[in-house]
Amino acid sequence: MYNTLLGINTSMSFVIGSPCVGCKDTKCVEVCPVDCFYEGPDMLVINPDECIDCALCEPECPVDAIWSDDELPPEQIPFIEINTRMADIWPNITETKEPMAHASPYSLEEAIVIGEKHVEDEEQ
Ligand code: SF4
Ligand code: SF4
Repeated sequence: MYNTLLGINTSMSFVIGSPCVGCKDTKCVEVCPVDCFYEGPDMLVINPDECIDCALCEPECPVDAIWSDDELPPEQIPFIEINTRMADIWPNITETKEPMAHASPYSLEEAIVIGEKHVEDEEQ
C-alpha cells in the first residue's frame, strides 16, 4: 500500500502466485473491499498499491494461490513483479466467473515462465 506521507510503499500487500496460473477460479474477487484484482488471460493479479491488507481473499482461494508478501514462499518471489507490473495493464475484475480449471495444470517453473512472459510481452 502506498503511503502518501512518506511517498513510498510501506506496508504489505497480498500476492497471487503460481497455483492461479491456468486455474483462475476467481472466487477471491468477490470479497475484496477495494476491488484490487486484475484479470489476465490465465491468472489474476493484485495491485499492491490498492490492496489494504485485509486478508479476506486469502482463505477464499481454493488452491491456496494467495499469500501476504511477508509470508510468500521464496519460490513464489517472481510473482511479486508479475502482480505489480500486470495490475497496471490488465482490466479490473470484480465478479466471479467460470474457472479455467479446478487446479493449475502447470508446474511452478512453467507458471513462472508464463507469468514472466506476460511482463516481457508488455515491455516490447
Ligand atoms: S481464487 Fe485463487 S486461483 Fe482463483 S483467481 Fe483467485 S487467486 Fe486465482
Ligand atoms: S488482502 Fe484484502 S484488499 Fe488485498 S487483495 Fe485481498 S481482499 Fe483485496
